[in-house]
Amino acid sequence: MSRRRPVVTIDGPAGAGKSTVSRRIAERLGFTYLDTGALYRTVALAAVEDPEVGIADTDRLGRLARDLDIRFGDGGTRVLLGGRDVTAEIRSPEISQAASKVSAVPAVREGLLDLQRRLGADGGVVVEGRDVGSVVFPDAEVKFYLTADVACRAQRRVDQLRESGVEVDFEATRREIEERDARDAGRAVAPLRRPEGAIEVDSGPLTAEQVIESMVAVVRSREGS
Ligand code: C5P
Repeated sequence: MSRRRPVVTIDGPAGAGKSTVSRRIAERLGFTYLDTGALYRTVALAAVEDPEVGIADTDRLGRLARDLDIRFGDGGTRVLLGGRDVTAEIRSPEISQAASKVSAVPAVREGLLDLQRRLGADGGVVVEGRDVGSVVFPDAEVKFYLTADVACRAQRRVDQLRESGVEVDFEATRREIEERDARDAGRAVAPLRRPEGAIEVDSGPLTAEQVIESMVAVVRSREGS
């Protein structure tokens, strides 16, 4: 009898290394990679681009989130909005802030819930986000909470953007991350927190490879048990 492969959730604050780690764990395990932050970022981009939708217009934002044609390509690493590749655009600091604002709107979270659950329904998936182990997949077989102190996360974000050819200031990035942390942890609906049953990993003193190794080992041991 074949057992369903697990849902692995990785939650944590901005810049803790979730994307790198989640993507590579998915590759190592032969699982699908689901970046839920990219969904909120794409809703934010669509809202910013649509003159009819204000960032404070909660009803319209909810409808937008529910009806948007968002698809993933290339193993979950490319994001398509109505067929247009928005992978790079959704990573700008402007869209990061807008994403954290639209994600505080309950109708937006509700609008994206079904899509996230559908994408993870068959198991064999690594899902990264802020509430994926607590709200989206509360019954996930393996849950992690990946964190690191704010200076370390800001430096990583600066390095990551530099690699993609974008220069940003360290202090501004640190402030931006602190603002997002406060908003993500302080919102009324699905605030960022360590999900019950999640294994907490501090990525500060570890290399990405060390984090990946330890997480892959946990997933394999649970699969075998
Ligand atoms: O992870 P990433 O930085 O791409 O997420 C962008 C924003 O989307 C976060 O700051 C957060 O406000 C929101 N988000 C969320 N719930 C998730 C994933 C992301 O609220 N599951």
